[in-house]
Amino acid sequence: MGHLFGTNGVRGTINKDLSVEMVLNISRAACTILGPGRVVVSRDSRRGGMMFLNAAVSGILSTGCHTIDIGPAPTPTLQFMVPRLNAAAGIMITASHNPGEFNGIKVMGANGIEVSRQVELQIEGCYFNREFKICTWDKVGKNQRYETALREYIAGIKRHVNEGEIHKAQLVVVVDSANSVGALATPELMRDLGCKVISLNSQLDGAFPGRPPEPTAQNLSELSETVKAVNADIGIAHDGDADRATFVDENGAVLWGDQSFAIIASRVLRRRLNSTLVTPISSGRLIEDVAKDAGAKIEWTVVGSVVVSHKLEELRADLGGEENGGVFYPPHQSVRDGPMTAAQIVEVMAVERKTLSQLVAELPTYFSNKTKVQVPSEKKSKILDILLQLTEDQNRITLDGVKLVFDEGWVLMRPSGTEPLWRCFAEGKTQAEAKRLVKLGADFIHQAIDLA
Ligand code: MG
Repeated sequence: MGHLFGTNGVRGTINKDLSVEMVLNISRAACTILGPGRVVVSRDSRRGGMMFLNAAVSGILSTGCHTIDIGPAPTPTLQFMVPRLNAAAGIMITASHNPGEFNGIKVMGANGIEVSRQVELQIEGCYFNREFKICTWDKVGKNQRYETALREYIAGIKRHVNEGEIHKAQLVVVVDSANSVGALATPELMRDLGCKVISLNSQLDGAFPGRPPEPTAQNLSELSETVKAVNADIGIAHDGDADRATFVDENGAVLWGDQSFAIIASRVLRRRLNSTLVTPISSGRLIEDVAKDAGAKIEWTVVGSVVVSHKLEELRADLGGEENGGVFYPPHQSVRDGPMTAAQIVEVMAVERKTLSQLVAELPTYFSNKTKVQVPSEKKSKILDILLQLTEDQNRITLDGVKLVFDEGWVLMRPSGTEPLWRCFAEGKTQAEAKRLVKLGADFIHQAIDLA
């Protein structure tokens, strides 16, 4: 029996690895485990979104569950609505930051958080054994449209930031939504907060004509150029389903995810004594420094946003974050939320009357570097064991992948949950050191591929 779920739901190339029949039956399996009740459904702007959403709705209704369709929206909007609509589950059709040929499904429980690995295994069991609860004719579910989800979600975010101060600051903001659903929330949110908004790539288009949906520095050159050209205060970029946000300062420099996370963390963690921060081991020393300065405790997890979300709930922790620009603010909701993160960053700028580059300059300086190494699919599962052997004599952490720790920095090697590649993150006290460490990691992975 294979696995359906990766790090964040089920992903596959459209009509090849991911078919409408699969989406139909995954939805039936999810409702068999999570139902009965209502299921909130949504999609991003990807190709096949409507096709897969219709399959999901058919599957859900066939189990006697009801659907509430909120229309295209960011994943965090759907997650925000699930508990508010007293739903039993949520199903989002998205492949997040993956390239355009991918689509996928994220399954949320009644609290709006993606289901745990344990529940995924139950759903997979039900899917592979075809043990769906199919209802009789008189119990078939009803579909309902719900038109105000985005308004309610935006209003929900505004309650958690200092609207008055942000209004006074009159910030000029460029929002790059990658032709996806971030465009439905962040420009309006920023306008509501009194910012002047310039939108880039804001028409929904599953071909992603503006830029690839992953908000990495190399994909954000147009945003950087635009921020400089219009003298904006900040650039905000989302991934395909807007659960993440990456920022560009007023000089056009792209921030590392750890930097924006640290700017938020250093404020949020000071609001309470003995606060707790939850973060995966891929986060760097900057986050450790900021937590220590704020007197906060760090709870490390394996890499993956779902694990962070569940840990935040379990510990009733104050904040979560990832190096990829995902920030979790539990007073709003315990999931990554790109528009919420953007509101928090402009709030810090407005309240402290500082530019984004000034806020970055206040942070301790470490340099990061990352790379990806393509691994033939049939070798991907063998790489970890070989790496463990190759690095046996090194100072290392093997909680998730292999993290080699040196006085001057560290490098983490881990497989992607969704693609046939391994990722390599490194951090050092100088740029050259970070580059050297990332190369060291990549070399180990290449060696492992040769031996696999
Ligand atoms: Mg995403």
